[in-house]
Amino acid sequence: MKTYNFYAGPAILAEEVKKQAAQAALEYENTGLSLMEMSHRSAEVTAIMEEAVALTRELLNIPEGYRVLFLQGGASLQFYMTALNLLDSGKTAAYVDTGAWSKKAIKEAKRCGGVDVVASSSDKNYNYIPKNIDVPASAPYVHITTNNTIFGTQFQEIPDFDVPVVADMSSDIFSRPIDVSKYDVIYAGAQKNMGPAGATLVIVREGALGKVTRELPSMLDYRLFIEKNSLFNTGPVFSIYVSLLTLRWIKKNGGVEGMVNRNTEKANLLYEAIDNHPLFYGTAAKEDRSKMNVCFLLHEPSRSDEFLSACADAGIVGVKGHRSVGGFRASIYNAMDLAGVRQLVKVMESFQ
Ligand code: PMP
Repeated sequence: MKTYNFYAGPAILAEEVKKQAAQAALEYENTGLSLMEMSHRSAEVTAIMEEAVALTRELLNIPEGYRVLFLQGGASLQFYMTALNLLDSGKTAAYVDTGAWSKKAIKEAKRCGGVDVVASSSDKNYNYIPKNIDVPASAPYVHITTNNTIFGTQFQEIPDFDVPVVADMSSDIFSRPIDVSKYDVIYAGAQKNMGPAGATLVIVREGALGKVTRELPSMLDYRLFIEKNSLFNTGPVFSIYVSLLTLRWIKKNGGVEGMVNRNTEKANLLYEAIDNHPLFYGTAAKEDRSKMNVCFLLHEPSRSDEFLSACADAGIVGVKGHRSVGGFRASIYNAMDLAGVRQLVKVMESFQ
């Protein structure tokens, strides 16, 4: 029976990406070696790095003056690293609190300087995205989480702030076009829309760096990774390679514009099923609904296990909601196809 993977992350990868990755794990391009056995300084790995950077630039239309890095430590390290590199002690950055991951970013930034939480949706258990956010002009940047993986909300449009934006795009990178020129840093762990855990994509405006007065540890200094083309130390080569395979797959499927169409169709189908169903309801405010993580509940929560078991019988895995929201969460990242969402809708429809 086919398994439909709705996990929030690590998450679904395209079938062809998994096959190519499996081949590279055994032997990479007639070298007699697994990619996992090869030096990060070899010609092959250098070519992988160069193509991964070039395709990221192409797909996201990244302007001059920005650098693309593949680092380690996940988005969680970026919570700290962004602030360490951009927020001087004595300065105050603006943060928008839209959920658990924003809160963690705020906590780490406070180790580096002042934090002004300029907006929060904590009053309604993060079921919406704050509007009309006022950011002081003195802030070196405003930090946002573009898609809130746990609460199923997403900035539909990135507001026009007067200061540069630092964005955690872990759960919606490559799902839609972005105007990179608004940002000083964009970061995302690979394990949702890109590849397996291990690599963290960072897009950074070079001109934003070198302005803090503190001394930066080597491993936390973007400038050093820029100088070394991400490979200051041994990088997460296999995760970067699988990410590259995914980027090729995205390009082949119409680029990020192609992903918008695919993701809109899937999300519409699923939200419609939720809205029309007598037993289910969505948790996120309609205008802020995420196209990546769809959160919904049963009016009768006591029947949750029954629904999860109906899902399991249909090959559907990973739909149990995060404990802070409860109910169900269907993560429908780029690689999830319409057939997967149809399967879930079918189970919902027959659940009475
Ligand atoms: N930010 C967001 C929006 C996330 O969804 C996650 C992971 N679920 C993280 C940050 C943390 O990422 P990592 O595990 O790569 O540190």
